[in-house]
Amino acid sequence: MELFEQPGTESRITLFAELMLPIPVPKLFTYRVPLPLNDKIMVGQRAIVPFGDRKILTGVVVSVTDQPPKQYEAKYILELLDDFPSVTELQFKLFQWMADYYLCTTGEVMNAALPSGLKLSSESMVQLNPAFNLEESDFDFSEKERMLLKRLVGESMEYSAISKFLGVKTVYSLLKSLVGKGAIILYEEVKEKYKPRTERRIRLTDVYAVASALEGLFETIGTKPKQEAIVLKYLQDVPVLSHAEANKHGLAHKQLMSDDTLSESSLRTLIKNGVFEEFEVVVSRFEEEPLPDQHIIQLSEEQHQAQQAILASFKEHSATLLQGVTGSGKTEIYINLIKQAIEGGSQVLYLLPEIALTTQIVQRLRKIFGTTMGVYHSKFSDNERVEVWNGILNGRFKFVVGVRSAIFLPFDNLGLIIVDEEHDASYKQQEPAPRYHARDVAVVMAQLHHAKVLLGSATPAVETYYQALQGKYGFVKLDKRFGEARLPTLVLADMGRERKQKTVKGEFSGLLLKSIGDALSKKEQVIVFQNRRGYSPMVNCEDCGWVPKCVNCAVSLTYHQYRHALVCHYCGYREALPQNCPTCSSTRLKTVGYGTEKLEEELMLHFPDARIQRMDLDTTRSKSGYESILDHFERGETDILVGTQMVTKGLDFDHVSLVGIFNADRMIHFPDFRSYERAYQLITQVSGRAGRREVPGTVVIQTSSPDHPLLVTILNHSMEKFYGDQLEDRRQHSYPPFSRLIDVTIKHVDKKVCREGADALFKLFRSAMPGTKLLGPGEPMVSKIRNQFLMSILVKIPRGSSELGALKQALMQCIQQLLKEKEHRNTRVIVDVDPV
Ligand code: ADP
Ligand code: ZN
Ligand code: ZN
Repeated sequence: MELFEQPGTESRITLFAELMLPIPVPKLFTYRVPLPLNDKIMVGQRAIVPFGDRKILTGVVVSVTDQPPKQYEAKYILELLDDFPSVTELQFKLFQWMADYYLCTTGEVMNAALPSGLKLSSESMVQLNPAFNLEESDFDFSEKERMLLKRLVGESMEYSAISKFLGVKTVYSLLKSLVGKGAIILYEEVKEKYKPRTERRIRLTDVYAVASALEGLFETIGTKPKQEAIVLKYLQDVPVLSHAEANKHGLAHKQLMSDDTLSESSLRTLIKNGVFEEFEVVVSRFEEEPLPDQHIIQLSEEQHQAQQAILASFKEHSATLLQGVTGSGKTEIYINLIKQAIEGGSQVLYLLPEIALTTQIVQRLRKIFGTTMGVYHSKFSDNERVEVWNGILNGRFKFVVGVRSAIFLPFDNLGLIIVDEEHDASYKQQEPAPRYHARDVAVVMAQLHHAKVLLGSATPAVETYYQALQGKYGFVKLDKRFGEARLPTLVLADMGRERKQKTVKGEFSGLLLKSIGDALSKKEQVIVFQNRRGYSPMVNCEDCGWVPKCVNCAVSLTYHQYRHALVCHYCGYREALPQNCPTCSSTRLKTVGYGTEKLEEELMLHFPDARIQRMDLDTTRSKSGYESILDHFERGETDILVGTQMVTKGLDFDHVSLVGIFNADRMIHFPDFRSYERAYQLITQVSGRAGRREVPGTVVIQTSSPDHPLLVTILNHSMEKFYGDQLEDRRQHSYPPFSRLIDVTIKHVDKKVCREGADALFKLFRSAMPGTKLLGPGEPMVSKIRNQFLMSILVKIPRGSSELGALKQALMQCIQQLLKEKEHRNTRVIVDVDPV
């Protein structure tokens, strides 16, 4: 990292700093550096600055100059928060690239990048006016006002704490009245949000930390067994006499008192008598892990060859695709490559989709990399994120395994980035901006760091596959499962035929029921996959056809039986299931279709002795929900796991012999150019959970169109044909990878204004980007969400177009022009580059 040159003797000159602020304004802001900070300021440090009249923001120093801004008089920086940079130069470059490519501001990127613990908040504080005297005031004060004024003597309070103190909801009018009477002053205090975690510790005072003093101590407390027990426990855990140093570190209070026969009050006495002292240390939020075990996995011949091929490919390509069937040992290869990169002295980032980042994979990696590995997860608290951030800056973590947002971490020397399950849609951020794709950002990041990227998947994205086919990316294949494991056998349950033969029970085909029964009787485990949560996606009046809809969104409500409620999956709106149809009063309301909840219920009827668990958004909301379900399954305490796509991702279980897939038809016929790809990936991935060890695996796919060409392709494991067909199709209709898409969504609470805005914007686009393919404007599949009406326009830009940059600029200008018009001032326009 290049630091700002220390100005030395010239430090008396006036300096200005350009700051990136976490706001959606597309520019940097210049502030004046107070003289005493001249020698301290560095690029990448965080600084607190005033913004507007009342706000205080945390910015990051991007550059330092002696040139004052031309248009305005610079305000002073209030304070520098760091002694060293918190943001690296390479990060700035990446942020800039992301803002340009994804059509957003660097401020928005920065806002997404920095954990909020690294951004300061300004909170209003309230203090007594020093010039005020309650006794001498001419005003009347209410009881509550008096109460507060008394409390404020000698101590300011946070705005938010006051309502709690007074026990009232809003304190605004009360405070306003007190300000009017000259009794209080409001001011802003900036607070550092990151709170280091401290631990209370106990140690012997210097006087007692020597053998002679301890002997004397035992004589005096010999009659006090409770105190004696505490001192003994301490000496047992801390070898004071053999290692004098050990006493300095002392013992965590928690650990000392973990023995509940020990008495806290006796400890207090010992402290009062000067035997022990208490102190605090800052500790890591990440508990110390056991030392790594060094067991080495011997790569198989195929794996070894693949690894050599990857290393050879790294010499020529910055990015390489590893297409390896499920269970082929990709993870083992990653581990080897990561080790090599770390030994070579560089940093490594290993990206995983959100849901795949489970204890299973973390434990597997932890055993090998110990505490030098950082984990970055969205379910982590903000303080934990700050620790990972700082751990990279200070060199504690050489290797981070994390989800999509881990690309924002302050690496300065990456050697290798692995993007596992690179096809996964959760790498794409949907809301808010920056709407980035972490895989694609990783490729750019690797170029900035001169690092290598390995994209791994059993079912690569069509775009990635094409790059590899074209030789832009290296291409390595691994098409055999490790060891004795074979790819599972796929069979179709023909629902049409079974219906005629009357072998269907509820939602289950006779074939699937029989297969589940067989697996259970052999004590093997079963996974049942249906990509819909809830009980049934729709309720319908059998007499008049009425369907309950969300009041805020243009979607029907999903029935959730365990809550006995109709729920909107877009906005969370909920209502009770009515007894009668509100239009015709009929009581014949029936549920249509089925989700995981209903399958779970039917399974319980068919297999009353089986232990069944459900894994979907509803059962995994808590931080540990997901992990505990997986733990149960892994320990063999669950026989059947029924779930949404959560069950498809990267899980490695020994005893799953059967996977049942529901409603393949719905996946295939979903109206989107990616629906075949999605269906192919989902079916292949979930099938990949079966038969990963000696037990051979079977997959039963329920379908009403058993002759569908996509199913036939999947059944035959003919991957190359699948990609060939897809590419041909995409080429014909110029979809990615043969074009780049930009999706522009227009939002407004008024349907008419929304439509007019979309039409106007479309016209602007057409004249500003002649020759560019535009689709729309049209209603997206869900045309109203949270009371906002939506319209969308799709822009198709040919791949490799040299005009990409210019077109993007033109597009943004059109949007700005639209928003300037009076009737569209409240319209929101959302730009999504490379939508998925
Ligand atoms: P993938 O990531 O391709 O799905 P994994 O790396 O998870 O495959 O490997 C599947 C299983 O086989 C894992 O349990 C893994 O530990 C095991 N395995 C893979 N390669 C080896 C090897 N060379 N020696 C021992 N076990 C292996
Ligand atoms: Zn009705
Ligand atoms: Zn809704």
